[in-house]
Amino acid sequence: MEKITSPAAMTAWADSRRAEGKKICLVPTMGFFHEGHLSLMRKGAKIADEVVVSLFVNPIQFAPGEDLDSYPRAFEQDAGLAEKNGAVVLFAPEVASVYPEGFCSRVEVDGITDQLCGASRPGHFSGVTTIVAKLFNMVKPHSAVFGEKDFQQLAVIRRMASDLNFDVEIIGYPIVREPDGLAMSSRNSYLSDQQREHALCLSQSMQVARQKVAEGEKNAAGLQEQIRNFILEFGEVTIDYVSIVNCRTLEFEAEISSDSLLALAVKIGKTRLIDNTLLGQQV
Ligand code: AMP
Repeated sequence: MEKITSPAAMTAWADSRRAEGKKICLVPTMGFFHEGHLSLMRKGAKIADEVVVSLFVNPIQFAPGEDLDSYPRAFEQDAGLAEKNGAVVLFAPEVASVYPEGFCSRVEVDGITDQLCGASRPGHFSGVTTIVAKLFNMVKPHSAVFGEKDFQQLAVIRRMASDLNFDVEIIGYPIVREPDGLAMSSRNSYLSDQQREHALCLSQSMQVARQKVAEGEKNAAGLQEQIRNFILEFGEVTIDYVSIVNCRTLEFEAEISSDSLLALAVKIGKTRLIDNTLLGQQV
């Protein structure tokens, strides 16, 4: 596996592979790999000739006061894991080469960035779409794989790719969970043992919600309230949002349908965790 840090070298590599007729798949990440990231790399290796994993903790998607400085980093370990899981290039550019002096452009997607994480993290999604657009231009992939764990991010990137005519197939991949149901996340490393127990409020409340829907619950507002109350029984938890939305529009819908998505964001202590599930799924 090659490690590339310069954007120009990355693009030269992509041009040479494209000239040979190779299909390139990009897996964008912020590192500190867990099985969720690795599943995306293996998916990429199945559908393309060359998997490029980008590792870049993108400063412009963090608001002041968020965890940019403390975000977990483990470059050498990540490089070993990427190589074992099919990456041929680990692209890890420096911040200064991605955002050089004078950089002042942004890619903005309206509408579906207003709610859920977009409401509580102003500027976050424009940071995400800006870096993903830049990565598409630097890596020139034919496809890119993103986790459904960040469901709104995936929807926003699909929208951006379609609206801006990026010739990149956007592939979503299911959430990978710990055996007890907690969705894998680099931020889980912030949790104490006790907080790790409290974090089960996410997966357990989703299970309760799916059960209630299977039993015939149709009232989204009522179910949101029940889920809030269930979550608040756990320790050290503050709720950012508990929202039942249409999985295509991300708009609230009053009556639960097979397209309804339950999206959650909570803080356990200072650690912000998100999760989601389609409510029509089997319990
Ligand atoms: P991150 O490094 O957290 O920015 O995540 C990089 C990619 O991995 C994103 O597309 C995430 O949606 C995806 N991802 C993160 N956690 C998981 C998970 N538990 N299961 C599947 N994909 C994930």
